[in-house]
Amino acid sequence: MINFKKGLIPVIVQDSKTDKVLMLGYMNQEAYKKSIDEKKITFYSRSKKRLWTKGEISKNYLFIKDILVDCDEDTLLIKAEPAGPTCHKGSDTCWKEINNKNFLFHLENIISDKIKKKQENSYIYQLLKKGVNRISQKLGEEAVELIIESKDNNKNLFLNESADLLFHYLILLKEKGFKIQDVINILENRHSKS
Ligand code: AMP
Ligand code: ZN
Ligand code: ZN
Ligand code: ZN
Repeated sequence: MINFKKGLIPVIVQDSKTDKVLMLGYMNQEAYKKSIDEKKITFYSRSKKRLWTKGEISKNYLFIKDILVDCDEDTLLIKAEPAGPTCHKGSDTCWKEINNKNFLFHLENIISDKIKKKQENSYIYQLLKKGVNRISQKLGEEAVELIIESKDNNKNLFLNESADLLFHYLILLKEKGFKIQDVINILENRHSKS
């Protein structure tokens, strides 16, 4: 028997095929019963304060394959088949690294910072002020420069143009309201499907 005495129990959802941990939600007795009846996961949403069938809008339901309970019967592990990306941000799993040791993420934060502080003497801020057309034009120029250097054999110039391209790409992403993680999510999604 599952112990619903405390009201809500945590539910870990795992992809029944890939074993990836997809998300964590909460269930009360009612959500649990509905999930069993419909063979797809309904949580109790603490923010919506109501039963929430995962996929009710997106149709990205989680179809139940197997239910496991932990040793003291107060946590569930549900193995499910997702009908689409589980995370509402578009990736298959809600989990991501907190400590991105990658310098690209750090650089992304620096870019955001310069803009927040409206640093007039910053190249980044000046470029962003000029708008999306100027930024994408600049990105195009850097791409052409990289193409030219790739035909040459100067390693140093090639790497520097590569850095220029990546740097301006980050600025374009920022202007469009995205982060490098959004792009990584899409790449990962494609990878897990192939
Ligand atoms: P859905 O249940 O997929 O139709 O999504 C409906 C709403 O629930 C979304 O707009 C989000 O606010 C929220 N939501 C969907 N999926 C998740 C998730 N994996 N984790 C947290 N909130 C979610
Ligand atoms: Zn437990
Ligand atoms: Zn999510
Ligand atoms: Zn350049």
